[in-house]
Amino acid sequence: MSLALADAERIVACAVSDAAIDPAEAELLAGSLGDAAVRDAVRAGALESKLRGKGDVVSFSRNVFIPLTNLCRDRCAYCTFAKLPDSPEAKTYALDEVAEVVRGGVATGCSEALLCLGDKPEIAHPQHRDWLRERGYRSTPDYVVEASRVAFEGGMLPHTNAGILTSDEMQALRAWNASLGLMLESTSERLCARGGPHFWAPDKKPAVRLRMHEEAGELGIPFTSGLLLGIGETPAERVQTLFAIRDLDERHGHIQETIVQPFHPKPGTRMRAATPLSDAEVAGWVGLARLVLGPARNVQAPPNLAPDVLETLLHSGLNDWGGVSPVTLDFINPEAPWPTLDELRRRTEAAGHRLVERLPVYPDDLLERPERFAPRVREAALRLAGPDGWVRPRQEAAA
Ligand code: SF4
Repeated sequence: MSLALADAERIVACAVSDAAIDPAEAELLAGSLGDAAVRDAVRAGALESKLRGKGDVVSFSRNVFIPLTNLCRDRCAYCTFAKLPDSPEAKTYALDEVAEVVRGGVATGCSEALLCLGDKPEIAHPQHRDWLRERGYRSTPDYVVEASRVAFEGGMLPHTNAGILTSDEMQALRAWNASLGLMLESTSERLCARGGPHFWAPDKKPAVRLRMHEEAGELGIPFTSGLLLGIGETPAERVQTLFAIRDLDERHGHIQETIVQPFHPKPGTRMRAATPLSDAEVAGWVGLARLVLGPARNVQAPPNLAPDVLETLLHSGLNDWGGVSPVTLDFINPEAPWPTLDELRRRTEAAGHRLVERLPVYPDDLLERPERFAPRVREAALRLAGPDGWVRPRQEAAA
């Protein structure tokens, strides 16, 4: 039974005024997000919370997406990114190809090189093991360090999501990366059971992903996390995932942003017939994420995955659009083109917000927590940033 609107409004009002909500109340709201009136109350409260914490600012990062390898040892039931080595679409970028994409990014004013790749492909695919060995690399993360160096030396700030990494691997990547990321996706163990989307994906075990988040926190690395909506988790499990991210950040202060990402079913996958969340539901979850995470944290929703409702998302408490590329595809969702930056600016501003460009790290970390970065990475980031930590206007940066 849906929560009465008056009860929902009371919970939301407390969440906004206290900048906090407890898990039981968040679960009550979550269970009623299908009710448009409750959803609107959550979204209105979330917008108020965002305005208190972030003012009218909504940020984005101008990036290039480099899918360093689309080989992966996992087989998530919804994924079209991962290819088998004998597929004509299998690809591992050579370093000169990385450099070429980076040159295109620099030429179009991008500052972030997003290195995104499959998880430990060398474990499942001997061909990839050989490919690495022939080039002198012991593992994929070893190679990612080198690709990060190439991207950095080409003039961009890398942000890497390479799946599960050890502490030592994250530390090695910190030498060239401004930040790292791993979607927590879901804390639901059920999704890893036989028949679930993560049964063939050992790297999607919640405990493994939580451990990497924890270790990134112990290292003090600015870290991107997020939840994936609609892969079979319950509303209560989504709330648990949001609280897990909040608790990690309370312990370590390292979660630089939380992505609220809707799953889109894709032809040719085991989940091709799954029903995704509606855009309205996605907006409701952006709102609930804001209420759980509070006014000060960064809540992101990708604009290419709900392009018809950018205004609704803006009125649901997000303060970041994430990476948007004028050059490359979203290789995870290649069917979903990015809005142009002109369109993003026009629609963000028409909805009453101010679009600002950020680096793959937020101003507070960059300006106030130098210990989080390798010195050369921070120096490069500061050269691209203005005194407020956002990206310096182009003509000034070039001067
Ligand atoms: S871990 Fe990532 S790349 Fe690998 S199969 Fe799952 S979603 Fe695809």
